[in-house]
Amino acid sequence: MRIVLLGAPGSGKGTQAALLVKDLSLPHISTGELLRSAVKAGTELGQKAKAVMDRGELVSDDIMLSLIEQRLSQPDASEGFILDGYPRNLAQARALDALLDRLEQPVDEALQIDIDVEMVIGRIAKRAAEEGRSDDTEEVVRNRMKVYLDQTAPVVDYYAQKGLLSRVLGEGTIEEVFQRIKGVLQIRSEN
Ligand code: AMP
Repeated sequence: MRIVLLGAPGSGKGTQAALLVKDLSLPHISTGELLRSAVKAGTELGQKAKAVMDRGELVSDDIMLSLIEQRLSQPDASEGFILDGYPRNLAQARALDALLDRLEQPVDEALQIDIDVEMVIGRIAKRAAEEGRSDDTEEVVRNRMKVYLDQTAPVVDYYAQKGLLSRVLGEGTIEEVFQRIKGVLQIRSEN
């Protein structure tokens, strides 16, 4: 199954993706993680991306497409994947469709985790303290939220129009949210 996880920064996408990975035995492809590895490794791409990430802006669509294209063409992604953090705008959504059409592996499910924005800001601040991420100061978090609302939120409608969207409420315990997600995926696989 090819799943795109959608939701504001801090909505619990990464946590839920990790649970889904175990449950479905599919690779978790997080573009944020791919970028952070590139930054750590000091690659040219990482150096270009770091300043943009530290401001909470989006890394360019070209860079992201080549990154995701490389990752999706690896053998472990051929049976499906859980995509987390991509697409982040409409251009990326269209580019992903074109890429997956070419690979004859279209998206099966786009899953939006809905959450209250103020609650998210609190969650991110907590994660920043735990992980020491340089893009998690309150100012940057607010900018990431703005970027999300301006650029990423329209992606939800894009998948809705294709009949691929399901939404789950991201509030409650991790397990409660996970059970909601499993319910949605069960319905999708039966149809
Ligand atoms: P995340 O871990 O998904 O919140 O991503 C952390 C940061 O990486 C984002 O704030 C962006 O700067 C960058 N990033 C991750 N995915 C993308 C993407 N699909 N397009 C552009 N930038 C991205």
